[in-house]
Amino acid sequence: ANRIVVKIGTSSLIYPSGEINLRNIDQLAFVLSSLCNQGKQVILVSSGAIGVGLNQLSLTERPASIAAQQALASIGQSKLIMMFSQRFEHYGQKIGQLLLTHDVFDYPQSRQNVLNTFDELLQQRIIPVVNENDSVAVDELDHKTRFGDNDQLSAIVTSRTNSDLLIMLSDIDGFYDMNPLKNPEAALISQVSQINQETFNLAGDKGSRFGTGGMVTKLLAAERLINENRQMVLANGRDPRVIFNILDGEPVGTWFT
Ligand code: ADP
Repeated sequence: ANRIVVKIGTSSLIYPSGEINLRNIDQLAFVLSSLCNQGKQVILVSSGAIGVGLNQLSLTERPASIAAQQALASIGQSKLIMMFSQRFEHYGQKIGQLLLTHDVFDYPQSRQNVLNTFDELLQQRIIPVVNENDSVAVDELDHKTRFGDNDQLSAIVTSRTNSDLLIMLSDIDGFYDMNPLKNPEAALISQVSQINQETFNLAGDKGSRFGTGGMVTKLLAAERLINENRQMVLANGRDPRVIFNILDGEPVGTWFT
């Protein structure tokens, strides 16, 4: 894989206590900088803006109002990108920030503008760091129309930038035959090559692709990429160095291929 997208979830960036996981931010910067050094083109899709915003304001609960969450995202995003920028710089790597909405890819003009930015950054060996633009779009915040913590956005970015592989880092080792949080006997599925209603039935209790929730949006992302002959790997982001293992083709996580 020469052009890859890495998506990291909030759980890998913020501890349950609300503290920022500086170790993971540093490790991620280290791993992605080394990959760039080896000539790979890397795009990072990072969640975590609201989590960092909560931390900045010493809040423990996510506010109910969407506007308050947008404000938190605005505070958190600038701090998050500052932390990334600093850690990447430590490894001699430059980054550029892209705050996107899903619909920029629906219009030819804005789509072309965004793709030109990606291409230019990647050609200059700069890592684009992408997040949803929460002050403009509330898809991610509004639970009724929830797109799922950047899962969909990362699949769209992988597809539109013609990347070969999406590495999705979550708080779970991969895709299981039932929700492992509720069933201790759940078994990891190491490879999925076809996604159908049965696959969706394994994700959570609702068993519907229209339900919300962690695994459903990840399966929708995988479904899209498989159909385009791209690959997705779902792995645990507890140690971002797992990205090296994935790129070495080791059997970690779940390969959607
Ligand atoms: P992230 O914030 O990293 O995107 P999510 O919380 O959205 O992570 O999604 C991961 C969660 O999905 C897991 O922690 C697990 O509780 C839940 N889940 C539901 N069904 C499954 C399944 N079949 N296999 C693995 N995880 C599942």
